[in-house]
Amino acid sequence: KISSLILLLIIGLTPKMNAQKKSIDQRVDSLMKLMTLKEKVGQLNQYSGKEVTGPTSDRKSYLLNDIKSGMVGSMLNVKGVKDTKEIQAVALQSRLKIPLLFSLDVIHGYKTVFPIPLAESASWDMAAIRETAHVAAEEAASSGIHWTFAPMVDIARDPRWGRVMEGAGEDTYLGSAIARARVLGFQGNKLGGVDAIMACAKHFAAYGAAIAGRDYNPVDMSEQLLNEIYLPPFKAAADAGVATFMNSFNTINGVPATGNAYLQRDILKGEWKYKGFVVSDWGSIKEMIPWGFAKNMNQAAEKAIVAGSDMDMESEAYKKELEKLVSSGKVDVKYVDDAVRRILYKKFELGLFDNPYKFSDEKREEKVMNDPKHKEIALSAAQKSIVLLKNNNAILPLQKSIKNIALIGPLVNAKRDQAGSWVVYADTANIVSVAEGMKSKFANTKFTYAEGATVKDAKTDGFAAAVETAKNADVVVMVLGETWDMSGESKSRTDISLPGKQEELFNAIKATGKPVIVVMMAGRPLVFNSIADKADAVVYAWFLGDQGGNAIANVLSGDYNPSGKLPMSFPRSVGQIPIFYNHYNTGRPVTKPTDIVYKSAYIDSPNDPKFAFGYGLSYTNFTYSGLKLDKASPLKNETVTLSFTLTNSGKVAGEEVAQLYIQDRFASLVRPVKELKDFAKVKLNAGESKTITFTLTPDKLKFFKEKLGWVTEVGDFKVMVGGSSDGIKLESSFEVK
Ligand code: BGC
Repeated sequence: KISSLILLLIIGLTPKMNAQKKSIDQRVDSLMKLMTLKEKVGQLNQYSGKEVTGPTSDRKSYLLNDIKSGMVGSMLNVKGVKDTKEIQAVALQSRLKIPLLFSLDVIHGYKTVFPIPLAESASWDMAAIRETAHVAAEEAASSGIHWTFAPMVDIARDPRWGRVMEGAGEDTYLGSAIARARVLGFQGNKLGGVDAIMACAKHFAAYGAAIAGRDYNPVDMSEQLLNEIYLPPFKAAADAGVATFMNSFNTINGVPATGNAYLQRDILKGEWKYKGFVVSDWGSIKEMIPWGFAKNMNQAAEKAIVAGSDMDMESEAYKKELEKLVSSGKVDVKYVDDAVRRILYKKFELGLFDNPYKFSDEKREEKVMNDPKHKEIALSAAQKSIVLLKNNNAILPLQKSIKNIALIGPLVNAKRDQAGSWVVYADTANIVSVAEGMKSKFANTKFTYAEGATVKDAKTDGFAAAVETAKNADVVVMVLGETWDMSGESKSRTDISLPGKQEELFNAIKATGKPVIVVMMAGRPLVFNSIADKADAVVYAWFLGDQGGNAIANVLSGDYNPSGKLPMSFPRSVGQIPIFYNHYNTGRPVTKPTDIVYKSAYIDSPNDPKFAFGYGLSYTNFTYSGLKLDKASPLKNETVTLSFTLTNSGKVAGEEVAQLYIQDRFASLVRPVKELKDFAKVKLNAGESKTITFTLTPDKLKFFKEKLGWVTEVGDFKVMVGGSSDGIKLESSFEVK
């Protein structure tokens, strides 16, 4: 047995004596010299265990025993000051007293529930996105959590995949900016503060490209697509200093991501020089067995550690097999050492060796959890996430003097649904429903209510009452969509139209002749063409979290002028999927929608989406004018700067997301018709103009070629500026010499 004092001296922990003098690297080295192989393997082991603080059970004693004997590096799903303290105390009974990392899926809020990540991405507002991640971190950190499994930075071009709700949508440039904002939000500028937690860029890599949108399915893709579309948000997260990565359940070109040395060793830890650690996804090491990539747990452990998976979440493959693999010479101990070093480094960086209970402080927990500012931030984020898709004859905003509003639809009173997937701590009973939000906003209006139908079942017996309600109103607000549990992990759908009898309900209400405003709640783009065509207005509200009802009421009343823009294309039908704005032209592009014979077209649908990437309306109008480029023929290493004037030509203040797209017109590889390369969210009063500047750095003109890497080629580039990918207002071009 080593006495505590000697241990502290060796690893330089006594706060005043050594901690300042020794670098983290030195402290890690000293500690590792004391560790047995078994203890090293213990650091690579992560368990999930709500049971560990629960009533006596076999699982509980198993977990406690492993923690006490130094066989656990991290626990997930243990939360709250009391529980984390209790379990940390058990870890400190182990021989080397190495503290545990407490991790959790804090995806879009902890106690305060913010909009789901896809919704928030529709804000295109990096400061707002960073702020909600920061609040989530502050709350979680006050509750004993050190580490969140977020952000999910997987690009997703297939709305059948339920996890689109958790990401930033289909575009790499926007997705990279959001990845950075979220990482900085969770972690602050530096780890170690009690208001910051480690972030985790997941799922490395290409998890969002699962074949047919079916979760956990394989991925097959070219080097070019991987590098241009799927990897950049991960690179952006790494560059922003993300503490950890999570690998993924999918294979890529036949190799499971978890056993993928090319991704984890060559790219991430090699080319990108990444210094954090990689955690496997839940059981993904042992899942290499059913994939047919490993014969048994022993081989799974070997393949994963050699490929660069540092921590084993819930497979117990490392715990059971690594010692044997190293002792028998099958696995070089250098792989284990490298993984341990990376993990210990983070524990030191967080300050856990100096104070293992640093994050577990009742007083701070109490204060942070009840901070009234968090509510305001949730409201602001929710407002910014809303996308106005249609507003015929400016029916919106509604006058506050309106006499009668009928609120109809299965989600009118929804609370839990507005939280979306991944609620880890919050009390969803506090969520503001649309009915509640509308009532407090329109204080002099008479409201009538009828759910009319449920989201999922086929009953129509509520229709008659709903129709009666509509008949007596001046305007009907219908709240339709998905329930919270229809998107998220393992929630892929083949049919992404409105479930149940909601469309029939809409038709019955519409038949009354009353104006109908549809508020759509969902965790993904839905297909709802006929409703979109017939409704007077459509407000896409996703799942907005705690303040959803208030945010929606603010938009419907005009107290907030909607500014969201779609981060994903909305298909007309499932048959169009995958559909994304940065597609190729083909050799037979459709130039006139009426001329499709022998063109790259469908005979039963247009090619374009129902609502395009980047699209979203406002209560005011924006005019674009005077595009200027500072160079007509830049050299390959020169930056092109563009400027133009953006004017609010309507009657109310508003915010516009101006977007810059380019097309590399002729190249040695065919290039997309448009690629987003810059954007700016600009606030303008009625009548106000501003000069907006965009930059095209040399990097933005590059594309990826197998064997060569990133290249720039001379030639023509088209430049397009506008308020959506299908609403280009200004065009120009330049030629790279
Ligand atoms: C998910 C991860 C998540 C993990 C832990 C997995 O099933 O794919 O994204 O972080 O579970 O809850």
